[in-house]
Amino acid sequence: MLENLKPEKVFRYFEEISAIPHGSGNVGAIADYCVKFAESRGLEAIRDDHDNVIIYADGTEGYENSEPVILQGHLDMVCEKRDSCPKNMETDPITLNTDGEWVWAEDTTLGGDDGIAIAYILAILDSDNIPHPPIEALLTCDEETGMYGAEGLDGALFEGKRLINIDSEEEGFITVSCAGGVRVACEYPLEFTEVAGGFTAVGVSISGFTGGHSGVDINKNRLNAHITLASILNSVSSEVEIFISDIKGGSKTNVIPNSASAIIITEVENRYTAVDAINKAIELWNGEYSAFEPDAKITVFYPDIPKKCLTRACTDKIIFALLQSPNGICSVMKNDPEMVKTSLNMGELTFGNNSLELGYLIRSNSLSGKKLIVEKLCSFIAFLGGKATLDSEYPSWEYREDSPLRDIMVEAFKEMYGKEPVITSIHAGLECGLLSEKIENADMVSIGPDLENVHTPDERMNVASVERTFNYLLSVLKKLV
Ligand SMILES: [Zn+2]
Repeated sequence: MLENLKPEKVFRYFEEISAIPHGSGNVGAIADYCVKFAESRGLEAIRDDHDNVIIYADGTEGYENSEPVILQGHLDMVCEKRDSCPKNMETDPITLNTDGEWVWAEDTTLGGDDGIAIAYILAILDSDNIPHPPIEALLTCDEETGMYGAEGLDGALFEGKRLINIDSEEEGFITVSCAGGVRVACEYPLEFTEVAGGFTAVGVSISGFTGGHSGVDINKNRLNAHITLASILNSVSSEVEIFISDIKGGSKTNVIPNSASAIIITEVENRYTAVDAINKAIELWNGEYSAFEPDAKITVFYPDIPKKCLTRACTDKIIFALLQSPNGICSVMKNDPEMVKTSLNMGELTFGNNSLELGYLIRSNSLSGKKLIVEKLCSFIAFLGGKATLDSEYPSWEYREDSPLRDIMVEAFKEMYGKEPVITSIHAGLECGLLSEKIENADMVSIGPDLENVHTPDERMNVASVERTFNYLLSVLKKLV
């Protein structure tokens, strides 16, 4: 299907690996394929217990004694398909298609993320006319589900200290830093009381907020539904006495919550004042934020009267905890104020039998930034009598002031494209974070050709960009004497 596309070898390998199902958790066969590829060319290959594959190649003539370069991509892909697609992506190969300009797969993800890295690396290792220093090719497993390959990797397998990660999705951008993260699970104890006669229930429901990725969308003025809800409850509470009897919101720490709802109890005679206060608060929010949240819907509803509700003191505390909690952008990058450096997202809100549970994801492109915000959040939670537990911590990849590899990448880019590349950071995780812990003092960059709509059946890869990015990579290798 792709035989007429250039670079011919890159697309040939891309087609070969596309014929092997290789979703996350299912990389055994593609790892086998890569090891066989190496063995049949007399290259040393290691496959570790996690199914990471490392292939070693000597430097070409004139580069025999150069410092090795690590070329890295991940073996696994995200398997998504349209509802109408009958394929079993565990066992059936994807069906490639092209119009000469783009490559895509019929009704499934393409796996350009990150199959193009594997295809580039195999094409380089297979050639006899590409000048390069010694190569340590690192093909990691299961990046998409938690970077388990990079996490389990033995750094002692590498001699190289400079690493080119090929898992970025925009030509012309060189990524030089990524965020690390930590999840904070917070529990506030709840105190209940019986609902007496003479009380009634009113509900507020928020839906249709944009939401989005808690890292890359955190600077896009998207409202957190939990905080909007808390603000509305706070305005009601300043008019009449209310008692929360139920409250719920998002279910993923890495997603900005786009809906939330609460049921409150109030005396029957205060009912209209309460509803008025809610409506006024809704008006205020709509006036201020309708431009950012055009599909927002905040409504009042009238549920059955529940048997129990929180005490007044506990109600106040929960409203305060949600309304005043640290959330959103905390700081921006020194070298690029457009880029977020540290942020957090209050993504989960669950009303349990004895406690209110909130789940946060803190992200930062620096270790110190992460530590500071962990301290701030945990002291806030402790002050309100809650309990905070940290888990799923992963390291950031910090910006290096001094990066000879970045300098070479920039020089080669200017020579080839006649302009400066964009040096950028991402406020999300890349394997470079974990790799910077495994390979001490590594000098790293991340690049890649234009890919669109990755992780969806609309994923597509630009053919001309694949070729230019490959040629760029070859010109960089040539400079790594
Ligand atoms: Zn990827």
